[in-house]
Amino acid sequence: MQPSIQQLRTYFLSGATQSYDFRLNQLKRLKKVVLESEKELYQALYADLKKTDEDAWATEVGFFLSELNYTIEHLKAWMQPNTVSTNLVNQPSTSFTVQEPLGVVCIIAPWNYPFQLLFTPLIGAIAGGNCVVLKPSEFAPATAAAMGKIIHALFPDNYILYMEGEGATVLPPLLTENRFDHIFYTGSTMVGKIIYKYAAEQLVPVTLELGGKSPAVITSDANIRVAARRLANPKFSNCGQMCIAPDYILVPTELKEELIKELIIAIQSFYGADAEASEHYGKIINDKQWLRLTSYLSDGEIVYGGKSNREKLFIEPTIMTGVHADAKIMQDEIFGPILPILTYQSNEEALAIIQKNPNPLAFYVFTENKEDEQYWLTNVPSGGACVNNATMHITNHDLPFGGRGFSGMGGYHGKLSFDTFTHTKSVLKTPTWIDPSFKYPPYKGKAWLLKRLIG
Ligand code: NAD
Repeated sequence: MQPSIQQLRTYFLSGATQSYDFRLNQLKRLKKVVLESEKELYQALYADLKKTDEDAWATEVGFFLSELNYTIEHLKAWMQPNTVSTNLVNQPSTSFTVQEPLGVVCIIAPWNYPFQLLFTPLIGAIAGGNCVVLKPSEFAPATAAAMGKIIHALFPDNYILYMEGEGATVLPPLLTENRFDHIFYTGSTMVGKIIYKYAAEQLVPVTLELGGKSPAVITSDANIRVAARRLANPKFSNCGQMCIAPDYILVPTELKEELIKELIIAIQSFYGADAEASEHYGKIINDKQWLRLTSYLSDGEIVYGGKSNREKLFIEPTIMTGVHADAKIMQDEIFGPILPILTYQSNEEALAIIQKNPNPLAFYVFTENKEDEQYWLTNVPSGGACVNNATMHITNHDLPFGGRGFSGMGGYHGKLSFDTFTHTKSVLKTPTWIDPSFKYPPYKGKAWLLKRLIG
């Protein structure tokens, strides 16, 4: 049977999803069932990615709940019309904007944070008053099944339709034989281009949350110990399978050894000397990714780690040096626990390396110097950035999250999620008790007045 979203369209047009009470109620029901399903979600996330309960809470369920609570708290205010000033020629009108539901939207998610990346945009879509098709990743099957159970228990198919299956099979007919009002896609840049083409055919607006190589630059006066801890944490959490994980580090030549020493201390304090035996260290998602990642291990010199076990989908936290800027590991998004350390002697040299993969999703600079901070923030256009931190910008509801150029377009989180899943409609309201003739043709002799009013 061909996938059809007609039943969702009909339900949307009934107006049922649009009231504040309806939206709030769905968000609260979602919260309740997710809380009741926590254990099942943790088991699923362990099966797919060997995430501990604590990790699964912090990066998946807790992250989602934090966004959900924030949305529940602010939804009423966000739904209010926003009055703006009115220009002279339209006086005595009033002007305001309203956030209008989009209609039927499609949310497509990847496997690395399979719950958070499907359910967090869902918050915005429900808050926006839309009907939704949800497409989880087929590569995190246990979590996809657990999420499906939640959605089926809560929502009818004509409101939120949960559509599992292989992306390359399920999505082309879904996106070509239906017209969505918005497609929200998170995943690789390569598949993002395919989705963008489908959307373009029918002029469907998109949010593309893509990947890329997010660099970290350490300057000569940086606090190396803090930098090492703050970079090693997101690089090896979830085995580096994180869209904003630091991909590689650029460090002044004279600080390389100190940085490596501190990175090793950090890694061992997180996972012990034998990460394979650590219950806190995750696994690679599947054999295909394991093969891709282990192929990078010959792209330079391994100064720490390098052990792997195909059966267990294990790759040790690994630090590499001597990596050539043209090596495969420096062309692909690594998306795994392998960290190249590159040295530089001038800012221009480091910048030239970064510019080979322009518009990263995130950029990190570690420095105590304001001028250096300014230099790096202005010279590396990126989706988001941190100074003396890495990846934590994603946790602030008041910071929009998204890429630019090759790392994506549009964004979400906090109010931006609501804005993303609504249309800002401009309304001008004019009274009828006054209707001056200078506004109507013929304009001969009225130009001076119009110029004054419009100019
Ligand atoms: P992916 O592009 O392979 O898959 C994402 C989704 O697209 C899945 O639901 C999949 O079923 C579907 N898909 C795959 N091939 C398809 C095809 N040919 N046609 C239509 N749909 C298809 O991505 P992934 O491997 O699951 O995730 C890893 C990538 O996602 C990395 O590049 C990472 O940086 C990026 N990512 C970005 C963010 C972000 O917020 N910007 C977050 C997480 C991951």
